[in-house]
Amino acid sequence: MTSQHHAIDIPFEYRHTCWFCGEPYYDSFGFMPNPNYEHQSEPLLIPSCQECFNCCKGIKVSSLDLLRDKVKEQLHKRYAKHLQIGINWTKEELEDCEFEGKALEGFRESAWMMFEIAKARVNYQGWPVSIDGMPVAGISNAFQFEFDGIRYTGLQHAVKQLALSHGIPQPYLEQVIELVGREKMAYALRFCKTSYGYSEGQIKASIESLKALLAEEAANASVADQSISSDAKREIPLSEIKELILFRTMVSPHAIQWALERGIDTLEKLAQQEEGFFAHFEQDSEMVAFTYFNGLQIYLEHRENDPQWAEYEDPNRDLFASK
Ligand SMILES: [Zn+2]
Repeated sequence: MTSQHHAIDIPFEYRHTCWFCGEPYYDSFGFMPNPNYEHQSEPLLIPSCQECFNCCKGIKVSSLDLLRDKVKEQLHKRYAKHLQIGINWTKEELEDCEFEGKALEGFRESAWMMFEIAKARVNYQGWPVSIDGMPVAGISNAFQFEFDGIRYTGLQHAVKQLALSHGIPQPYLEQVIELVGREKMAYALRFCKTSYGYSEGQIKASIESLKALLAEEAANASVADQSISSDAKREIPLSEIKELILFRTMVSPHAIQWALERGIDTLEKLAQQEEGFFAHFEQDSEMVAFTYFNGLQIYLEHRENDPQWAEYEDPNRDLFASK
């Protein structure tokens, strides 16, 4: 007896699940590679939800992992607005935010859920593909790229989506990533977002200044490493640090503690340790790190611009004085 199809094995716990995105099962899509390099003779049956099933119908690719990537890219595109919610908000901010009017209240109530659903679908990994217990070889996810909890099919895809959702010209973000490296996506996004503008000339100037900055950082890195390791790190309890608000910006005691413990008391020293700062606070979230950094910059700048204030009024003046 020969069957007309190869159905992939479905583990018991996945028996009503879309292999692509984890949503409820609708139908099995019969996948034939195109071009068919391996001379596969029968379609491979892949359990799908209705949306992924319909996506698959329009895709021509030579392997199952490419099919999966194309489906994921379409989900990313279709749910870009939902995924963006997680870029623009944290769950807590959304809960605390007071929207007025029925429509906006509705947004608040459903927004985080929409984000969670979209995120779960694009991140879903399926299950290992086998037929009658024999693993199907060559299904790779080695090129996938994860940033801020969201999985992309590859670096190229991540750059495209992130450029779009942050309103950055894609070629600009590509150039910055090339300079700073793929593991520094957060840094690259921050750099692009704080650029003066996106005209051709402005981008060129920003890229030049980034090159200069990276060269300088590389030169400083060895020096900074030495100074931090040679000064025994100073420990300052959080309770000794006063929170303050400057120019309507809250300066977090956590950020102040981080700076004091490392002997960072000027904007210049902070700039040299920017990466270390973000590496430390991004474990919480990108938003937290960004907010803390902004506050700390304002604080140190104010101390420099107004030495009188720094010496006599700054509530943490004793801590800065007793270095
Ligand atoms: Zn699906």
